[in-house]
Amino acid sequence: MKKFSALAVSLLIAATTLSAKEFVSIGTGGMTGTYYPVGGAICRLANKNPDIRCSVESTGGSIYNVNNVLKDELSFGFVQSDVVYDKYNGVGKFKDKGDKNLRAVMSIYPELLAFVVSKSSNIKSYTDVKGKNINVGNPGSGNEFTALIVFDEYGIDVDKELSHRGVLTAQESPMALKDKKIDGYFYMVGHPTANITDASNSLPIDLISVGEKEADAIIAKYPYYAKGTIPSGLYEGIDHDTLTVGVKAVLVTSKNQSDEAVMAVVNSVLQNFQEYQNLHPALKLVTKESLLEGLSAPLHPAAQAAFEKAGIIKK
Ligand code: GLU
Repeated sequence: MKKFSALAVSLLIAATTLSAKEFVSIGTGGMTGTYYPVGGAICRLANKNPDIRCSVESTGGSIYNVNNVLKDELSFGFVQSDVVYDKYNGVGKFKDKGDKNLRAVMSIYPELLAFVVSKSSNIKSYTDVKGKNINVGNPGSGNEFTALIVFDEYGIDVDKELSHRGVLTAQESPMALKDKKIDGYFYMVGHPTANITDASNSLPIDLISVGEKEADAIIAKYPYYAKGTIPSGLYEGIDHDTLTVGVKAVLVTSKNQSDEAVMAVVNSVLQNFQEYQNLHPALKLVTKESLLEGLSAPLHPAAQAAFEKAGIIKK
């Protein structure tokens, strides 16, 4: 009996020590994208804090992440700001499916929509896609979400006018492009990204610009899009600037997320900022102030408190 209770006590102690550590997960995207390595970098910094055990998950992208953060299946998720806005406000694709429990933690970096095509497809503009095999994106992705907005602006019905509307992930797309299974694919991503570098190393590719008129119309219609340029020379063989539309990648969570976890994640970035910036080239231009740009949902109160404590939000 005595023995048994000693065991019970030591088990109890073990359980208490374990539960003192908070386990958090960050939903990202495909492994060759930018969400995944940057999510890994945030977890590495967060894990310097002995009270946190952060793990990064590769997922289908923004739509998957926002839905699973709200179901508490993921603690945090990377989500495009256009998706954040529509989900929080229950508009667009999320009409009648909005959720006011969504909270922003911080803005990460700008993403620009890339329409990557094989040179052999002869696609030179969006209007050349008729009758082509285009990978618009897997259903959980933000890639599909934004690509459909641009096609809509051009008046192109992807279900009627493409010869095939592809649903591969961005990760699967460079290989499919090389094997001529598709003529092009969409990726809303922070640049430079391994995915497009891989594609450009495997076959001659091009990046297709959104027309000036269409880009202006899109930014006039939606509060969260901005015009941006993927610079010439960023990827092998692309020797022209590519005008396109962009968003912010935002780290989100649910209103129910613990203050400790949110605080730990924000502080891991703020307190190791220089190290953070050097972890991925997409983070080079990020400043502490830009962590608050384009959030598209209210800040979680613990994030607000962490930014106030760091003097970035003035009380
Ligand atoms: N923006 C993409 C999406 O939401 C993912 C980009 C990435 O994985 O870096 O699907």
